[in-house]
Amino acid sequence: MERPAACWEGQDRYGNEILPSLTIILKTSGCRHDRCRMCSYRHERYPGGEELVIDQLRWVQEHHDLPKAVMVKVYTSGSFFDPCEVPAGAARYAAELFTGKLVVAETRPEYVETGLLEEFISRIDTGVFKTPLTVAIGLETVTDIIREKSIDKGFSWDDFLHATKKARTAGAGVKAYLLQKPLFLTETEANDDMERSIRALEGIADAVSMNPCTVQKNTELEYYWQRGAYRPPYLWSVLSVLLSSPYPVTCDPVGGGRSRGPHNCGECDRGIVEAIRSYSLTADKSLLSEVFEKECACREEWEFVLDHERSWSLPLTR
Ligand code: SF4
Ligand SMILES: [Zn+2]
Repeated sequence: MERPAACWEGQDRYGNEILPSLTIILKTSGCRHDRCRMCSYRHERYPGGEELVIDQLRWVQEHHDLPKAVMVKVYTSGSFFDPCEVPAGAARYAAELFTGKLVVAETRPEYVETGLLEEFISRIDTGVFKTPLTVAIGLETVTDIIREKSIDKGFSWDDFLHATKKARTAGAGVKAYLLQKPLFLTETEANDDMERSIRALEGIADAVSMNPCTVQKNTELEYYWQRGAYRPPYLWSVLSVLLSSPYPVTCDPVGGGRSRGPHNCGECDRGIVEAIRSYSLTADKSLLSEVFEKECACREEWEFVLDHERSWSLPLTR
């Protein structure tokens, strides 16, 4: 039996509840877009097609307490609803395995097809949840020029909106992932972009999760980072964006406190990362303001960066 790339049990917030969840990252043939500047998942490619995916789902069934999980979050290193990655038989197997659960499945917008989602929902739906399936899309930002130039994501805000309409027609919910501080932005530009994105998604996405950018291996982002041309966001920035949000945004600062992840000075990082994780689960903003108001010498450095960092004048054309 093949192990998935990763699989773990945890907890997730859904509406006002905290639910036991299972997160599964499946090995597949890989992402067909294969271009984003900060992404190392795109190098993950495995032959084996439908059988490979089903085999990993069997492994999950044997090695994890599936009945305990109310929510299942399923990712590939690409798109769950790309039929090349997860062929129809494997998607059917997954849906039957996850019957009666809240399923969150990540996909690029071009693979959101109403018919496909309707079929998936008809298999998982037992009438317990109003919206048993949520489609999660890595929108990254609402600003097309940043998504294009800083990320090379290959789709537009309009494409995203079109996909959300199709998902809603099928009866699915929509979750958006945002990327805090992609390449080529100053700290202030990045924060402004996240604040703008969070506001623009109100009423469009049911849930928003913000990922502070990390420097993954073998990426274009790493190339710039190694040459001193990129710094991941300060944890102060993560706090300030979350604090300014008009609604609860979840955030898991992966690599928090490390040089490749969102970080401050090294002294104050741990407490802030813990506060952000607790806030994600409880939506209690006082957890954020408590650490945001604490004194640390690096706060002045962050404020200086916000005021003085200037963007490079990158040409828009060749
Ligand atoms: S970020 Fe997503 S869409 Fe972009 S290359 Fe990576 S897996 Fe593909
Ligand atoms: Zn500090």
